[in-house]
Amino acid sequence: MDLFALHGRVAVVTGGNGGIGLGMAKGLARAGASIVVAARDPKKNKAAVRELEALSAKVLAVETDVRQTESCQTLFRKAAQAFGTVDILINNAGMNVRLQPEEYDIDSWNTVLETNLTSAMLCSKYAHQVMVRQGAGKIINIGSMMSIFGAPFASAYAASKGGIVQFTKACASAWAKDNIQVNAVLPGWIDTDLTRRGRKEVSGLHERVLARTPAGRWGDPDDHAGVAIFLSGKGSDFITGAAITVDGGFSIQA
Ligand code: NDP
Repeated sequence: MDLFALHGRVAVVTGGNGGIGLGMAKGLARAGASIVVAARDPKKNKAAVRELEALSAKVLAVETDVRQTESCQTLFRKAAQAFGTVDILINNAGMNVRLQPEEYDIDSWNTVLETNLTSAMLCSKYAHQVMVRQGAGKIINIGSMMSIFGAPFASAYAASKGGIVQFTKACASAWAKDNIQVNAVLPGWIDTDLTRRGRKEVSGLHERVLARTPAGRWGDPDDHAGVAIFLSGKGSDFITGAAITVDGGFSIQA
């Protein structure tokens, strides 16, 4: 039995049109999975489809806003129409509004919480309906170093990412009986659009990350391909509720 083969599997990746989501989607595609890219920007969706098709994967892009309940519902309907099922869900869509805690208003707070945390509840709920029928499933939720640490500019983001880890544990314990494994991945500092903006907004961030990361570099989206394949395949069937760091050692550095 190949513990890492995903032939015939169907994966929905929210935020799969760039950054870490695309890095994970490429890993799954290389392992044989069909991919559903779920994000808002049609141009980026199209480019991601081309990149994934070049790896010989079957790919569908569904324009999705994970903050909207109906949009998430439509995503799973279209995925099932195109591929018959959904075996893997990666709740990866995310964003940040960098403010001091006292500067948030309810809209900026809700934007972060809805995009990063509530979306995972919605998509997991619709994925569960499919997975429970087929008797198996894999859900991967994307946390962050802010699932563990705090930062002055990240109270909403840290709340959402701490919440993701606890949400992961709750779903893992609820759905183990359905043979659905739910795990979290906590990336370190990865070079994407999100952190490029962060590096502009937070002075000294780039240097601090390099100094603290034992691997001595920023992470790359492709660094997440391996963990995505592992948590999607048979090799992780007895792993559930875990939070796995992919951080070049950032979180173990004293
Ligand atoms: P990017 O900004 O590169 O990607 C974010 C993705 O989320 C895009 O594909 C974007 O697509 C999508 N997205 C954002 N809002 C929505 C929405 N409302 N509906 C649907 N899709 C949405 O960031 P990263 O790749 O860096 O981030 C991916 C995940 O990894 C996030 O959850 C982030 O918090 C997390 N993370 C990132 C780290 C890093 O260092 N980069 C570290 C730790 C965690 P579109 O705009 O087209 O909708």
